[in-house]
Amino acid sequence: MENLIFEKSKSGRKGYTLPKLDVPVKENLIPNKFLRKEAAKLPEVPETDISRHYIRLSNLNHCIEKGFYPLGSCTMKYNPKVNEITASMPGFTGVHPNLLGEYSQGSLEIMYELGEALKTITGMKGVTLQPSAGAQGELTGILCIRAYFLDRGETNRTKILIPESAHGTNPASAVTGGFQTVVVKCAANGSIDLDDLKSKLGDDIAGIMITNPSTIGVFESNIVEIEKLIHGCGGLMYMDGANLNALLGITTPGLMKFDCVHINLHKTMSTPHGGGGPGSGPICVNEKLVPFLPTPQVVKVGDKFELRTKKDLPKSIGRMHEFFGNFAIFVRALTYIKMNGPEGLRQVSENAIINANYVQSKLKGYYAFPYNVNCMHECVCSADLQKANGVSAKDIGKRMLDYGVHAPTTYFPLIVHEALLIEPTETEKLEDLDAFCDVLITIAEEAKNNPQLVLDSPLTTPVRRLDDALAVRQPNLKYEM
Ligand SMILES: *Cc1c(COP(=O)(O)O)cnc(C)c1O
Repeated sequence: MENLIFEKSKSGRKGYTLPKLDVPVKENLIPNKFLRKEAAKLPEVPETDISRHYIRLSNLNHCIEKGFYPLGSCTMKYNPKVNEITASMPGFTGVHPNLLGEYSQGSLEIMYELGEALKTITGMKGVTLQPSAGAQGELTGILCIRAYFLDRGETNRTKILIPESAHGTNPASAVTGGFQTVVVKCAANGSIDLDDLKSKLGDDIAGIMITNPSTIGVFESNIVEIEKLIHGCGGLMYMDGANLNALLGITTPGLMKFDCVHINLHKTMSTPHGGGGPGSGPICVNEKLVPFLPTPQVVKVGDKFELRTKKDLPKSIGRMHEFFGNFAIFVRALTYIKMNGPEGLRQVSENAIINANYVQSKLKGYYAFPYNVNCMHECVCSADLQKANGVSAKDIGKRMLDYGVHAPTTYFPLIVHEALLIEPTETEKLEDLDAFCDVLITIAEEAKNNPQLVLDSPLTTPVRRLDDALAVRQPNLKYEM
C-alpha cells in the first residue's frame, strides 16, 4: 500500500525554493485576527517524493491509456493527443469569457462551427452547447419540451414515457423537469413493446425518451411506427444520443423524426471523461423547439460572430451553465470531428459496430446472450451460466481486474439478468479484442473448474474486495494521523 503524502513528511524537508524577497515587507497588511496561530500542517517532502508518490498513485488507477476499458454505454474510447494540443493553444486557454465582440471572434467561431457540425451529424435545426453532461442535456431538452407545451397552453401534458431499457438518467431528468414518468415494456427482442406503448398514449403524454440504439445495443426497429404513434397523440420524441457512436454518418435522429437529442461529447467525440475532465452534453433540436433553447446563442452575421441573449430570444428557457459551457471540451470535440471528416466519422461507427459484433460472436458459447441479434456498438451477455456455479457478474468483473482489464458495465441494463454490457469502441485493434475475449473465456473456465478463485478475486489489486454494504452504512471518510 502507498502511504499518504502526510505520512512521508519530515520537518524541514522542502520540495520548493522561493526567490529572495525583492520588495519591502509591509507590516500588518493582514489584520491580526485573520492570521494563523500555528503553521498549516502541510506535508514537508522533497520534490522526488511528491513526484513518485503521485505517479505511483496514478498507476494504481485504471485508465484508457493503461489498458482496455469496455464499459458499456460509456464509450470509453481513446482520446487522441492532438485534441490536447489544440485545446492547450494559448489563444484558447488565455481567453476570458467576458472578452466579447472583436476580441473573441475565434472562440465564437469554434462554438459556431461545432454547433453547425453537430446539427449536420444529428440532422437537426438548432443547438446549444451549454449542458456540461449528458444528464444535464436531458434536463435542458425536457425543460425545452415543457416550455413548448406551456407556450401552446397544453398544460394537460404531464407525462413522459420511458421504456424499461432506458438509461437511469432519463426518468431522473423527466422528473427533475416536472413530469411524471410512465414505464413502457420491452418485447422479447429488446425493442419497445408496441401494444404496451399504444395502451399508454393519450392527451396527457408530453413525449417519450428513447435511447437508440438501446442500452442493450439494439437498434429500435419499430422507430418509424413509434414516431407515428407519439406525434399522432401530440407528444414529442426525445432521443438519448449518448450512443451516437453507433450512428455517425449512417443515420440521424432528424431522419428518425426526433424533436430533440443530446450528444455526449465526452463519449462519442473522444473528449476525456470518468475523472479525466469535465463533460459536455450539447442538445440539438428541430424547428419546434428552437425558440426555447438556452441563451446566449452564437450566430453568424456576414463573416462576424455575435451573441443573441434572452432579450433577443424571449421564449428561451434561459441559462443552463455560466458563460458558454465547457469551452476547452468544444475545442477537443471540433478537432476530433475535423480530423475525421464525414467519411472518417462514418468509419468510426462502422468499426465500433464490427468490434462489438466480433466480441459477441467470440464469447457466444461461453456466456449466455439473452438477445439473439446482431448488435450495434455494444453487446450484452449474462453471467447466468456462471451463476449456476455461484459466480455472478460482479465476481467476473472483479476477476478481470487481476488480468489488467477494466470490468464491463455490470447489472445494467436492468432488464438483463446478471448483465455484462461490453462496448469495445472503434479504438481497439484486433489483437486487443482477442486478448480481452481470452480473458473472459479463461474466467468462464475458472468459474466452471475453480469457482472459489473467482469468488476470492481480485488477488492482485492493492485493495481486495470491499464490503460494499458496510461502506455504505458506516462510511469511514476521515483519516486520523
Ligand atoms: C452516459 C449516458 C447518459 C448520461 O450522460 P452523463 O454525461 O454521464 O450525464 C445518459 N444516457 C446514456 C444512454 C448514457 O450512456
